[in-house]
Amino acid sequence: MLVMMKSHATKEEIEAVCRKIESLGYKAHPIPGITRTAIGITGNKGPLEPAAFESLPGVGDCVPVSKPYKLVGRELKEETTVVELGDGVQIGGRELAIIAGPCAVESRDQARSIARSVAAAGARLFRGGAYKPRTSPYSFQGLEEDGLKILAGIREDFGLKIVTEAIDVQSIELVEHYADVIQIGARNMQNFSLLKRAGRSKRPVLLKRGISATLDELLMAAEYILSEGNYNVILCERGIRTFADHTRNTLDLSVIPAVQRLSHLPIIVDPSHGTGRREKVLPLSRAAIAVGADGLIVEVHHRPEEALSDGNQSIQPPELEQLIQQIGQIAPILNRTL
Ligand code: PEP
Ligand code: MN
Repeated sequence: MLVMMKSHATKEEIEAVCRKIESLGYKAHPIPGITRTAIGITGNKGPLEPAAFESLPGVGDCVPVSKPYKLVGRELKEETTVVELGDGVQIGGRELAIIAGPCAVESRDQARSIARSVAAAGARLFRGGAYKPRTSPYSFQGLEEDGLKILAGIREDFGLKIVTEAIDVQSIELVEHYADVIQIGARNMQNFSLLKRAGRSKRPVLLKRGISATLDELLMAAEYILSEGNYNVILCERGIRTFADHTRNTLDLSVIPAVQRLSHLPIIVDPSHGTGRREKVLPLSRAAIAVGADGLIVEVHHRPEEALSDGNQSIQPPELEQLIQQIGQIAPILNRTL
């Protein structure tokens, strides 16, 4: 059930409703909206009696939730969530978010050289894995904490916000210490203990769609994070596995409007993993922005043929510049900026 507060409800009235919810043994999730605060209730086994809340001062309405997810749905919050990363960098606001960088941090020189061109191209967020979930145990697994330190240096020196993946509940401790956004990868979308741990983090979470996850499964995975109290979640479409073999994955751009109808969470697109091929990254980036995505996460490498992972899908710095220039032309049609 959702408790919708009146538009002029005071902070004290909102707190009193939350206390009442907690006193019954449930968890209260107050989510401020533009016009009023909605309070989601989780932890109840069956339906709740609205009478317990309706009479409290400041309460407008009690509405049952019709969907299996309670906190990620637009029923709770009509307007899209804007994830604030500091220094005016946002995901889900009017400005499109461009996250660019290598698949993996391979060395200090490699990461900094790419970061320099990412910053010069005008992107405000840098990506790079320090923990890599690889198909083969013999492939490069990432520089771990050394990689995170390189990323922290990049934030310092280039002013870029850092997005990097946590692959398990051990690595998330370090990732949240060094990064601005914790990425949870496709293979971990249903790692429920990791999702719950991310839900207790103070850092925003970029949650990638599982390799064969339905829309409901993606939203329920996000619900795990919100249910623990972290409401700053960004969804990411990164392609799903289909019978098609002309592309690594099938980038499901139709999921963008579908997510936006159901959920207030921002959603970005990864055209690199979505296609697996460098030459498809620009066209699918244009399409992703045209379809209404809140941004892109793109793999960039200055020497893709030498990359330790995902070289085939990494674009080079001049192509990133071209991508940003083209996106900039599409953005105004959707009332977005870059
Ligand atoms: C990545 O971003 O490098 C990555 C491993 O992505 P995904 O989890 O989508 O495969
Ligand atoms: Mn990759």
